[in-house]
Amino acid sequence: MAILPIRIMGDPVLHAPASPVEEITDEIRDLVADMFETMDAAPGVGIAAPQVGVPLRIFTYSYADDEGAPWRGVVINPTLWISPPEPGQPDEDEESEGCLSFPGERFALRRAERALLTGTDLDGGAVRIEVDGWRARILQHEFDHLGGVLYIDRISDGDWKTAQKIARKRGWGRPGQAWTPGVDDLDA
Ligand code: ZN
Repeated sequence: MAILPIRIMGDPVLHAPASPVEEITDEIRDLVADMFETMDAAPGVGIAAPQVGVPLRIFTYSYADDEGAPWRGVVINPTLWISPPEPGQPDEDEESEGCLSFPGERFALRRAERALLTGTDLDGGAVRIEVDGWRARILQHEFDHLGGVLYIDRISDGDWKTAQKIARKRGWGRPGQAWTPGVDDLDA
């Protein structure tokens, strides 16, 4: 197992649709083990294969609710259904999210309240996840990665301009930028 470098916004693999997994091989199993390790080290509540440079439709997620109950897993070749998002502006405190591929920042984004995700697990078994609230947000965020969409592609025009300024200042927004949890200090 290994902690993998996480690609940063601007790397082409983050901005193109990922391909379906044709067969669950030992390579895929190793990749998923590394994705869990990388997600936990970051730490993050989810990571998609394109974020570690692999253009395949796989993501892992891990989140504990207020009572500490764990919710954790991997989904391969997912399909997502969502409820219609409420109209209106997102709340900065309640609806801000972040991304390991735009590290250290958070922006508000309105998401659907409920999500239903289907796919397969590492053994090829059926996965069906029906959740709401923050878990539904995580699934929408990770599913977006498989379509080459970052959450900053969806934020308000004003926030997008702020994000572009941050990216310019840090040298992001071009191919080849990455950071490795436990190695790179992003606040430096
Ligand atoms: Zn992300």
